[in-house]
Amino acid sequence: MEKILIVEDSPMILKILRHLAEQLGEFDVCVAADYKQAVDLYNADPSRFFCALVDLNLPDAPKGEIVDFCLGKKLSTIVLTGTYNEALQDELIDKGIVDYILKENRFSYEYAVSLIHYLRLNQNTQVLVAEDSDTARNHIVRLLRTSHFQVFESEDGEQALETLKLNPNIKMVIADYHMPVMDGFLLVQAIRKQLNRHNVVCIGLSSAEQSDLSSRFIKYGADDFLPKPFQVEEFNCRIKRNVDAIRMLDKLENMAYEDFLTEIPNRRKFMEAGSQIYADCLHREKSISLVIMDIDFFKRVNDTYGHDIGDIVLKMFSSELSTFFKTFLYARTGGEEFAMIMPTITVEKAYQLLEAFRIHVMNHEIEAGEQKLNITFSGGLSGGQFSNLVAHMQHADELLYRAKEKGRNAICVETVAALD
Ligand code: GH3
Ligand code: MG
Ligand code: MG
Ligand code: MG
Repeated sequence: MEKILIVEDSPMILKILRHLAEQLGEFDVCVAADYKQAVDLYNADPSRFFCALVDLNLPDAPKGEIVDFCLGKKLSTIVLTGTYNEALQDELIDKGIVDYILKENRFSYEYAVSLIHYLRLNQNTQVLVAEDSDTARNHIVRLLRTSHFQVFESEDGEQALETLKLNPNIKMVIADYHMPVMDGFLLVQAIRKQLNRHNVVCIGLSSAEQSDLSSRFIKYGADDFLPKPFQVEEFNCRIKRNVDAIRMLDKLENMAYEDFLTEIPNRRKFMEAGSQIYADCLHREKSISLVIMDIDFFKRVNDTYGHDIGDIVLKMFSSELSTFFKTFLYARTGGEEFAMIMPTITVEKAYQLLEAFRIHVMNHEIEAGEQKLNITFSGGLSGGQFSNLVAHMQHADELLYRAKEKGRNAICVETVAALD
């Protein structure tokens, strides 16, 4: 795990920050109460530090020396301070700190720690800057890199479209208006023909003289506009707000494909992604293994131990399934029913793996509060090629029914030679 360094002399504030940072569950949290402790702690093991959250006034370093130390070590630095000082704030931002946060109340600490989480997510977020002026582009790129974004650069609209085509994971485009070859309006318009707000955020940029540029940018499909020159803080706030918005949309989209209780893929995901995998295998004339699994006598688990324990059993089964079969597409397709498509292996191999899983589940003692219980499941494994995923699932379902008939806790397997 990467580490974060928190330096704060007030024991109470340090305790709050440490608690909030540990709650993120993403970092080892290292804390120091003064400059000397912080330096010693860093020097003892300088590896894997992700960022630092530091108080500007420390008993043994009252003039913000800790900031220079951290920046000197190339650490992303978030500054906390008790007093507002605009000149100092500007100076620190010029030096390259991530942000300057006033210690006002509980929310300031929550904001500071949420910023660390934001920076970490930014590491996997790609942003494209389309701007012909080297000075302006370099400035923006530097600010984005300080916030840990992966940054691409283009000098005109056409180049930007090309970069976007080659890097479909780009989530945000910052587009200057005045550019040769293709200006910012045309660029945003061209992007919007292919991609909507869910896919990419567009932010327009131009010098402030022309006051109608902002509304025109928005009408062309941009999500936001920034006049040049801008305050670094305003730039960072706008970027964060737009990135937060697109992340929220991503999250909602993912939720529609995830089972609420077990957090594994749901039936919708299985049918959509499975149909694609299926079509691909048919195309390559490959035999496919598909299994439907159903927990045995699950109604009895609910009746004996209660519905909550039933839920715990479903979560356990899902978690074991995902650990056992990491690389395959599996899903909770109904109450206590699960499906999985295994396109890369033979049906014999699939049977072996499923038998191993069946025995694992049978022997796995589930701890549910005071209770300990064991469950079993039955499976219908169908190999071969059908006309589509749904037809193949029907066959696997029939085999599942046979496994239940035979007494449960078994995998019933059959391969069909030709297309149905
Ligand atoms: P069989 O071995 O034949 O599959 O018997 P079974 O009892 O497992 O099957 P049955 O279809 O009779 O009962 C399934 C039960 O699963 C009934 C339903 O209340 C319960 N169930 C469905 N979804 C959930 C859920 O999300 N949580 C819990 N706790 N129970 C659920
Ligand atoms: Mg320009
Ligand atoms: Mg059942
Ligand atoms: Mg059932």
